Amino acid sequence: MPLHILSHPLGAHVLTHLRDKTTKPALFRTLSYQISLLLALEATRDLATEEKAIETPMEPTRGRVLARPLVIVPILRAGLGMLQPFNDVFPDVSVGYVGLERDHATAVARSYYCKLPALEGRRVLVVDPMLATGGSAVQAVNVVKAGGGKDIAFVCIVASPEGVALMQQAHPEVPIHSGALDRALNTRKYILPGLGDFGDRLYGT
Ligand code: URA
Repeated sequence: MPLHILSHPLGAHVLTHLRDKTTKPALFRTLSYQISLLLALEATRDLATEEKAIETPMEPTRGRVLARPLVIVPILRAGLGMLQPFNDVFPDVSVGYVGLERDHATAVARSYYCKLPALEGRRVLVVDPMLATGGSAVQAVNVVKAGGGKDIAFVCIVASPEGVALMQQAHPEVPIHSGALDRALNTRKYILPGLGDFGDRLYGT
């Protein structure tokens, strides 16, 4: 399974400020938007295009356009913090939602909501900022596959080695696009060095 780590000076800059514990929620949201935009571009590098005949003001020519609409599936709730840039730059985006909540005591993901658009024949990007244990990512991809998704990629801002390994085991064909691959999980299943609880920092809870 390919693991793609974002390699862009702006990505490194943004990630450092996201990690900084003094970064306030308003700036944290802006930075999340920026790094998600960079990741969105990376995760869609190989999208299919098709030829289209057009006329410029000067003469007829042929160009290429995206062949199929994209589907974005944020894992609620933190995944919502990555959704906007996908909506902003891609012309036809359908959004599905998978609600998975991490039990803070056991760190096991529990599903509480699922709503998916038609997935057949489309690239489906499952987005969640923190790939920690991998439990939510694996479960979300299970749900997307059950809904008919075949061309799936997972996009996150920070990944742990444990999360990548679990995804590799469960969904070896699903590429992962991440802003960084961090060192490890702590005993409470938070990523080190990480950036803390993404949802809490995003919403100031
Ligand atoms: N979820 C988070 O928000 N942060 C982590 O470090 C792990 C899971």
